Amino acid sequence: MHLSSLLAASLLAINAGAVPVLDPIQMMKRAGPAAGQVITKCSSPGMLALAYDDGPYQYTQKLADTLSAGGAKGTFFVTGTLYGCIYGQKTALQNAYKAGHQIASHTWTHPQNFGSMSAADLTSQMTKLETALVNIIGVKPTYMRPPYLATGGSVLSTMKTLGYRVITDDIDAGDWDKKTPQQSEALFTAAGASGNGHIPLMHETYSTTVDTLTPWLINWAKTNNLKLVTVAECLGDPTGAYVNGTGSSQTSC
Ligand SMILES: [Zn+2]
Repeated sequence: MHLSSLLAASLLAINAGAVPVLDPIQMMKRAGPAAGQVITKCSSPGMLALAYDDGPYQYTQKLADTLSAGGAKGTFFVTGTLYGCIYGQKTALQNAYKAGHQIASHTWTHPQNFGSMSAADLTSQMTKLETALVNIIGVKPTYMRPPYLATGGSVLSTMKTLGYRVITDDIDAGDWDKKTPQQSEALFTAAGASGNGHIPLMHETYSTTVDTLTPWLINWAKTNNLKLVTVAECLGDPTGAYVNGTGSSQTSC
């Protein structure tokens, strides 16, 4: 017996009783933070993950452009229908995705009772948006932020089943609660730039957040030597933000 065939025979013998091995691409996509556990901040210092909820909306393109011009990557937690139908901002979403910003899920309709919905209804909220995102950007996200940051009831177990990394925040900019950009800025200044990177809660649906707070944050990050990265990047998961999914012929909500 040649050495090579001996080697092959012994490898076969080893493999015969082994569990199936994931291919390398699947392994890479499964790396990164665990699904179904609440994540509030980055896994290392020296970074800031600007994260915006509730779009897409009329400011999506401008926000993506502002971030790109500032050398920043941002994360957009988008819904299907909250501020108009997602297909109405198809081009802006595609542009944001192509520019390297992260597109993540904020559910299909942004239900007020997200934390008390059944597993079936939660799943429907997620899969409807997945289908639309596959139709628009070609992939489905593995990161989500629950509406109202609701993580109770069946939310975490369902997100685990669906493979979603659940993001909340460690600084609430309060733009949804009528805080002015200056009041939000004071929160960042008070929180400081040391420690693991922040994942703030902000909303791309306010012009003040897009036009005033975001440029200030880009400058604040530069002043403090923070790298402006996506949520997936700030969690050491730069290639894990998306997986393949199944689209449809749908073009409206
Ligand atoms: Zn929201």
